[in-house]
Amino acid sequence: MNEVPPPPSLRLTVDTAALAANWRALDALSGAARAGAAVKADCYGLGVDTCVPALRDAGCETFFVAHWSEVAAVVRHVQPAQVAVLHGPLTEADCAYARSLGAVPVINSLEQAVRWTASGGGRCHVMVDTGINRLGIAPSEAGDPVIAALDIDILMSHLACADENSAMNAGQLAAFREVADRIPHRRASLANSAGIALGTDYAFDLTRPGLALYGGVPRDELAGAILPVARVEATLLQCRSIAAGESVGYNSTFAAPRPMRVGTVSIGYADGFLRLRGPGNALIHGARRLPILGKVSMDMVVVDLAEAPDLGAGAWLTVPWDINDCAQQNALSPYELLTLIGRRLHAH
Ligand SMILES: *Cc1c(COP(=O)(O)O)cnc(C)c1O
Repeated sequence: MNEVPPPPSLRLTVDTAALAANWRALDALSGAARAGAAVKADCYGLGVDTCVPALRDAGCETFFVAHWSEVAAVVRHVQPAQVAVLHGPLTEADCAYARSLGAVPVINSLEQAVRWTASGGGRCHVMVDTGINRLGIAPSEAGDPVIAALDIDILMSHLACADENSAMNAGQLAAFREVADRIPHRRASLANSAGIALGTDYAFDLTRPGLALYGGVPRDELAGAILPVARVEATLLQCRSIAAGESVGYNSTFAAPRPMRVGTVSIGYADGFLRLRGPGNALIHGARRLPILGKVSMDMVVVDLAEAPDLGAGAWLTVPWDINDCAQQNALSPYELLTLIGRRLHAH
């Protein structure tokens, strides 16, 4: 039973050359600082096994994941000491796992600092919360002896509003500078993708881009520098002619105003093609737009083939995953669009 399955009817293509170029561009925009890479959530849905080797070969040396469960996939491609775990050690078991593997915890609280030191201590990173109020020690805790006891490589903080021209940015920058003076560390890190576009004042020693690596453009300043990376395509499974008045899909929400030729496409909400991408949106073939008819199903969506009478079953259609445009059209953030890419798109 180890036959190779037939080719899938939907596919995700990741342009690893564009990914590498994006990392190099963000590294250059970081000035004297080096760029790392946020590779959490399976590289924002694009696949660790595809993306991490490309980032490594481009020169990236520091990789950020959220969960301990994400470490194993990344360390197939890079040294464990290069992998930072943003959620930090939540339990003693996390400390033991970090220690056995050599991946590095990001300490987010005095409790985590105590836990890490009690487990034997050693190199770690520290997150300071300068205003996003999510994870990290408070600046007022900087002088605590349990922080002083740590061997801190990267001291970091995270910007809440870097994709906007908000006074919050300068405020967090000032707060981070102030706290960095009081906590001994080897490298300081503040900027995510959007933060890189705020200028080299925000870069310190290491930047942490995620979204822009994968083709997202969180600020206009990055528009010329970032290449698209992800391409999603699905095939027509079946085409049919319907009479005026016939309906399409669940709940018959679309009724044909005239005789129509329609096609059923092999992508649905289980693949991250959410229902809010239904009517009003289209799939693409060459220069032609094929409007979506009726509700998006779990594994299928139906399109109007009026503009493409030549297409039949087996034709590949492009599913717009231009994460910047789609986000505007659908009130979905580009982060959501990417991280929703379904597992079936990786099955080839
Ligand atoms: C996800 C994340 C990043 C990357 O942010 P982008 O906006 O995707 O560039 C950087 N730092 C931290 C702490 C993160 O959680």
